[in-house]
Amino acid sequence: MFENLSERLGGVFDRLTKQGALSEDDVRTALREVRVALLEADVSLPVARNFIKAVEKKATGAAVTKSVTPGQQVVKIVHDELIAVLAGEEDGDPGKLRIDSPPAPILMVGLQGGGKTTTTAKLAKRLKERDGKKVLMASLDVNRPAAMEQLQILGTQIGVDTLPIVKGEDPVAIAKRAKTQAGMGGYDVYMLDTAGRLSIDDELMAQVEAVRDVANPRETLLVVDGLTGQDAVHTAENFDTRIGITGVVLTRMDGDGRGGAALSMRAITGKPIKFVGLGEKMDALETFEPDRVAGRILGMGDIVALVEKAQQTLEAEQAERMMKRFQKGQFNMNDLKTQLEQMIKMGGMEGMMSMMPGMGKMAKQMDGAGIDDRMLRQQIALIQSMTKKERANPQILQASRKKRIAKGSGMEVSDLNKLLKMQRQMSDMMKKMGKGGMLKQAMKGMF
Ligand code: GDP
Repeated sequence: MFENLSERLGGVFDRLTKQGALSEDDVRTALREVRVALLEADVSLPVARNFIKAVEKKATGAAVTKSVTPGQQVVKIVHDELIAVLAGEEDGDPGKLRIDSPPAPILMVGLQGGGKTTTTAKLAKRLKERDGKKVLMASLDVNRPAAMEQLQILGTQIGVDTLPIVKGEDPVAIAKRAKTQAGMGGYDVYMLDTAGRLSIDDELMAQVEAVRDVANPRETLLVVDGLTGQDAVHTAENFDTRIGITGVVLTRMDGDGRGGAALSMRAITGKPIKFVGLGEKMDALETFEPDRVAGRILGMGDIVALVEKAQQTLEAEQAERMMKRFQKGQFNMNDLKTQLEQMIKMGGMEGMMSMMPGMGKMAKQMDGAGIDDRMLRQQIALIQSMTKKERANPQILQASRKKRIAKGSGMEVSDLNKLLKMQRQMSDMMKKMGKGGMLKQAMKGMF
């Protein structure tokens, strides 16, 4: 899987990480090579372009960490970005299918020869062995009797029941019979292996639609040949538009395929790759785990780990410096802004305070308690309207400056006064807490 791409990227980054100092040009040249490598792996052009853009943006904005070289830092950024294109935000566990409320139907769709029947059996075996599910498989491929027999043979091989074949039945009738049998037989899951065609045609789609409508599947998995690159992505788009798919299984990822399908799939179709097929054997099915796949593509785990560690150290150092200032009661508008941003992340003022020992009550008494997201953003806007000097020394804010700031952020002076009061209260509080050693403890929970 991904050998060619991996080799190409390896070459680029080996050169990059060996250099001590890097100019912007070095990075740009390296990224140009990455882009070519992606395109050669048959990653779609917009995906490759966005990928490079995202990496470039992060590379220029990255905090410089002393103990790693810029090249190593670029590797880490590329690694993180690979995970981002491979994964969706809300995917959760890739191997987890929605198969509660038995009998749960899983609809298997795809083109002929993509590996649909093989994958149906592989997945049935996995559900049986790993999840302890009782599974029933049914072939709906009335056009190719051999396909029905193939599933039956595989079923016997893996010890999973198949729906008895009844000659002359149409796919919808088979789906209904599977549903009844699954209900009566106490099955947890029933899998419907639909017919495929060599290419997408209306008849195929109409048939799958009809089956979908009677089965009402919990999961509709598209099985596509990973070796077909962008074609696999187009197939997925087509099936998703007509049928609505919940996930993708990429087969033949054991081959020396170019891997582009895996990289483009999520970005273009918005659907997660749930599994990859890694051979003809019944246990050659793996869950698709973006971080592991990204690691495999880059093959630079050591560097990624090194940069992660350096980043953690840097953050710890920053937190330590910040704490020292807070203890002295130095809590300016930049600090407040950081805190406000943190609060948005943590679900408001009370959310944050409740995480700090002994602070729950204090949070309720403070003026800022109960403020929502919108208000936090308005407060951040106020701080953004201040000059650098004003942010560092909020005590210099007199009437005319206040008016300017309020105007600049579309707020009232009274809003700004509230913000200033909050900053003073926080500053006092930090100082008090610093004396009792409470601050150190509280900050542990925050970073
Ligand atoms: P269907 O027409 O979509 O049902 O495709 P089949 O399940 O019959 O598979 C077609 C061929 O591809 C068979 O020879 C399978 O053994 C093979 N195949 C399926 N998945 C994989 C895979 O992940 N890797 C490899 N190397 N071969 C596979």
